[in-house]
Amino acid sequence: MLETCCDILIDAYKRNWITSRDGNISIRYHDRDHFYVTPSGVRKQQMQPEMFKKIAIWRTINSGVGRVEFNYSWNVIEQTDLSGNLVPSGEMPLHFGLQKELGQHSNDVRVVVHVHPTYCIAAMHAGIDLGTISNSFPELNRYTKVAPNVGDVAPISQELADQCHYRLELDDRGNIAYDIVGIKGHGVVAVDVTPWRAYEHIERLEHICKIVLASGNY
Ligand SMILES: [Zn+2]
Repeated sequence: MLETCCDILIDAYKRNWITSRDGNISIRYHDRDHFYVTPSGVRKQQMQPEMFKKIAIWRTINSGVGRVEFNYSWNVIEQTDLSGNLVPSGEMPLHFGLQKELGQHSNDVRVVVHVHPTYCIAAMHAGIDLGTISNSFPELNRYTKVAPNVGDVAPISQELADQCHYRLELDDRGNIAYDIVGIKGHGVVAVDVTPWRAYEHIERLEHICKIVLASGNY
């Protein structure tokens, strides 16, 4: 599946959904205590599976009277020759929060894709809430649950991660209520069990945003 993630980044580049060094993807198999994430600053149209950073997930239990909490941390493991000089994506807080517990994907795979699709960003810039417009388009909302927008937050920040998690309604067990969320002035984050399924949420939403903007009725 790492190869498929590379294919997706090439496709996103061809569609103008990212410039060369933008975009990031993570992938976790349910039975592994690690996940893979794209490295920072690499030209994504030249991305190779060996460049992915392998990230260990550590969970410690914090218990007190009547409560059990978990603390999570991560570190890079098993460098390859190609990944050794690379560092994980700047959007690690976003990916780590969604990969540390898998929720409804806990018997499967979870893939998190972040790109910058033109019409999704244009629609948010025009003041459109992506979660609201999806209600008017059954071919979108029967397959893709769109969260309310995240507002202006700085890229590669903990705040971006926190706001995306909040809008996706990420809970302590890793469950999420939506498939995709838009970040104003920036891009989208989509989640599903295969790279192409996550990508299709973006494709569907981008198509509807293009239609809404072309209609001028928003
Ligand atoms: Zn971005």
